[in-house]
Amino acid sequence: MRPFRYARASDPADAVRQAGVAQAKYLGGGTNLVDLMRETIEGPELLVDVTSLPAAIEEQADGSVLIGAAARNTAVAEHRTIRTRYPMLSRAIVAGASPQIRNMATVGGNLLQRTRCSYFYDEAGSSCNKRHPGQGCDAVAGFNRNHAILGASPACVAVHPSDMCVALAALDAEVRLRGSGGARSLPLTDLHRLPGDRPDIETMLEPGELITGVALPALPFAARSTYRKVRDRSSYAFALVSVAAALDIEHGQVRDVRIALGGVAHKPWRAWRAEEMLRGRKADEAAFTAAAQAELADAEPLSQNGFKIELARRTIVAVLGELSGDAA
Ligand SMILES: Cc1cc2nc3c(=O)[nH]c(=O)nc-3n(C[C@H](O)[C@H](O)[C@H](O)COP(=O)(O)OP(=O)(O)OC[C@H]3O[C@@H](n4cnc5c(N)ncnc54)[C@H](O)[C@@H]3O)c2cc1C
Ligand code: SF4
Repeated sequence: MRPFRYARASDPADAVRQAGVAQAKYLGGGTNLVDLMRETIEGPELLVDVTSLPAAIEEQADGSVLIGAAARNTAVAEHRTIRTRYPMLSRAIVAGASPQIRNMATVGGNLLQRTRCSYFYDEAGSSCNKRHPGQGCDAVAGFNRNHAILGASPACVAVHPSDMCVALAALDAEVRLRGSGGARSLPLTDLHRLPGDRPDIETMLEPGELITGVALPALPFAARSTYRKVRDRSSYAFALVSVAAALDIEHGQVRDVRIALGGVAHKPWRAWRAEEMLRGRKADEAAFTAAAQAELADAEPLSQNGFKIELARRTIVAVLGELSGDAA
């Protein structure tokens, strides 16, 4: 591990000011960043601890809910408003990691956690364009069972590991940011990038920009929502495929719907095409199947992960069936 300095931020402006010098990184719970520092994949000169910044979870006058970026994952998952108004978010968080890690992990850190591609972690023995642009990608012809089927590139086929982000993508969450130029917001669906030829650039954040919070729109029908994660073992494993969905049905027809997928792409994958197909359609298994197939039509399997296409199709259909009260 390389030597580094540690500083504690007193407020968001102070955090941005302190991080504006040297090679700085913000420190949330440290459950991902410290591991990467130990492996010498990350080597900041300065850690700016942002865990004492705003962490409240508050309903706003317009019905939206603002979550401070320093809120611990457990606090969000257990919050009464989140459990009742946005159950998919609560379930997504609880589906991730372990209770101890969720107690430490912050919302800001969860959003920016890095891929779990095993070659990315193998600094000594593997080629990885995300670690060293231009070096090559050992996953393309290697062990790629857990990797992407949508939106990948020859440069990188890694997937985004977060469960929480999949629910936030489905909920149309807005990420609140603060940088040296002031404050701004970004839809969660625009925060993370597809790899293209620069997989080392993972988000649309400006250098030194701080995540200050996440806003959930009112979205009343999100009270009828869920998250399903399919993985190799029932706890302590990342998603092979996951689905976050909310469904609004009136007189047997889909009035509105939100769907996002995890474990399939370099970013949480919002299923815009499936949603578009479902609005106004009869809420039945045939419509759910057609929408899932349309969403996955562009999927491109690697040598070991073709099973994810059928798994994603079935999981979308099963989740929508569950939400519609159907026995799909
Ligand atoms: C064994 C294990 C199993 C896991 N399983 C799962 C799982 O199944 N599902 C899942 O979703 N996750 C899983 N995780 C990952 C876990 O959710 C993340 O490690 C955690 O959410 C990161 O949050 P943190 O606050 O500890 O971030 P940190 O490690 O502190 O930081 C992560 C990144 O975010 C940046 N950052 C932190 N806060 C801010 C901010 N406010 N503004 C800007 N940048 C910021 C840091 O600079 C760093 O780059 C697992 C982790 C471990 C160790
Ligand atoms: S998939 Fe991406 S993270 Fe994994 S080895 Fe290839 S370039 Fe690196």
